[in-house]
Amino acid sequence: MPYLRGMTLHIPFDNSYARLPDGFFARLGPRPVKAPSLIAFNDALAAMLGIEGADDPRLAAMFAGNALPDGAEPLAQLYAGHQFGHFNPQLGDGRALLLGEVVGRDGIRRDIQLKGSGPTPFSRMGDGRAWLGPVLREYLVSEAMHALGIPTTRALAAVRTGETVIRETLLPGAVLTRVAQSHIRVGTFQVFAARRDLDALRTLYAYTAARHDPDATGPADLLARVIDRQAALVAAWLGVGFIHGVMNTDNCTLSGETIDYGPCAFLDAYDPDTVFSSIDRHGRYAYAAQADVIVWNMAQLATALLPLMPEPEAAVEEFTALVHAMPARIEAARLDRFAAKIGLAERRPGDAALIGDLLDRMHANQADFTNTFRALSDGTARDQFADPTAFDSWETQWRARLADAPDADSVMRAANPVLIPRNHRIEEAIAAAVQGDDAPFHRLHRALSRPFADDAAYADLRSPPTPAEAVRATFCGT
Ligand code: AMP
Ligand code: MG
Repeated sequence: MPYLRGMTLHIPFDNSYARLPDGFFARLGPRPVKAPSLIAFNDALAAMLGIEGADDPRLAAMFAGNALPDGAEPLAQLYAGHQFGHFNPQLGDGRALLLGEVVGRDGIRRDIQLKGSGPTPFSRMGDGRAWLGPVLREYLVSEAMHALGIPTTRALAAVRTGETVIRETLLPGAVLTRVAQSHIRVGTFQVFAARRDLDALRTLYAYTAARHDPDATGPADLLARVIDRQAALVAAWLGVGFIHGVMNTDNCTLSGETIDYGPCAFLDAYDPDTVFSSIDRHGRYAYAAQADVIVWNMAQLATALLPLMPEPEAAVEEFTALVHAMPARIEAARLDRFAAKIGLAERRPGDAALIGDLLDRMHANQADFTNTFRALSDGTARDQFADPTAFDSWETQWRARLADAPDADSVMRAANPVLIPRNHRIEEAIAAAVQGDDAPFHRLHRALSRPFADDAAYADLRSPPTPAEAVRATFCGT
C-alpha cells in the first residue's frame, strides 16, 4: 500500500455499505496525486460529523487520496441509470470512491466520498479525475443550496492535485470530498432489476429502508416516501430558480437530496424554458421541465421496485397510482413556495392565478428571478421589469390580496434569498482559481453561507450578469 495510515485526523467511521455483498461495489483505493494542496475544508460540517481536525498538509493528503484515514474501506459503488432517457445497464462510480460512513452529532449516518480520486473498474473511457472548475462549482453550489434550506449533498473538502487533467484543454486537477445521507440512487435499484437479480434487489431494499425509512411497511411505502421527498425537492429547486441540468436516474437519490452538480445553473431573467447544459439539446431538463422529469424518474424507480412485490401484477396498479398522483403534489408544493414568495403563508383558490400572472409578466419583461421577488419587500420590484407598468397592474391585485395576509413581509424575506450562486460569479471564481487566486472563491462561499442576509458588503453579488458576463451554456466536461 502506498498510503500513509493513521495520521492525526480522526474520522469516526462506522461503515455499513462495505458489509453488503461483493457484487454491490468494487473495492479499491484512491490513486495518489503529485502535490496535494488544500483549497477549502468545511470545519462546521467536520465538527457536525465528529471529525477531529488536523493541519492543512495532512488534510490535503487525506482528501486528495494520498493517505487513507484509519477505518476507511474505500469502494466504488455499482449503479445503472437512464441517461437522457436511454438506459445504460452499467455505470457506477467512475471517478469517485466511498471512504465509509460516519454517524453525525445529529444521529444521521452519512457517506464520505472522494470525487476525482482516480480510475475505477467503472471508469469506462474516463480518466477518473476532475478538474478544478467542477470541484469548486460543486463546493459552492451544494453549500449554497444547504444554506438556502434545500436538501443536498454537502462539501467537506476541496484539494488541488498538482496534476493536470486533459479536457478540451489542459486544466488543473482537483478532488472534492462529498458528504451525503447516502449515494443510493434510482439507478442503484435499476442495475439489479435489469439483471433480474432478485436477491440483490431484496438486500438493497432492506438496506435502503433501514437507512432512510426504518418505519416503511414495504416497497410501496418506500416508493411513496421517495416520491414525497422528490416532489418537495423539485418544488424547492423551482422556488430558487435552480436548474439541475442532468436529472438522469443515476443522479436521483432515494434520500431526496440534490446530487451531482454538473452543468447546473440558476435562472437570471425568468424564462421557464431555460436550458444551460450544452448536451441537453431538446430541453429535457429545462427549468420548468424538471417537474415532469422527476415523475418519469419515479416511474423508473417504481418499475425497479416491482419485482419485490409478492404479486407484481397487482402492484402495478398501486405503483401507477402513486406515480400518477405525483404531478399534483409537485404543483401544490410549488404553489406553496411561490405563495410564500409573494407573502402568502396560506394559499387560497385565486392565488395560483395571481402567481402565474406575475411569472408571465416577469417572463415577458426579462425580469430577474431572484431580484424581483426580493424587491417585493423593498417596493422596488417594478424596476426589474422592461416595462414597469406591467408590474403596476399586477401590484394592484397583489396589494388587495395582501390586505388579508398577516406577516407578509417576514414571510417574503424568509422565502426570497438576496443571494444565489449566480453562474457568472461562479465562473469568475473558477477563472481566478485557475490562475492561483482563491480569494473570489472564498468570498463567494462566505457570502452564500447567509443567502437571506441583506449584507451591503456583498451588494455586488446581487447583480445579474451584463451581456458580456452572461453564461449561456454549461458543460458536462467535468
Ligand atoms: P455524471 O454525469 O457526473 O453523473 O457521471 C455519469 C457517469 O460517468 C458516472 O458513472 C461517472 O462516474 C462517470 N464519469 C464522469 N466523469 C468521469 C471521469 N472523468 N472518469 C471516469 N468516469 C467518469
Ligand atoms: Mg452522476
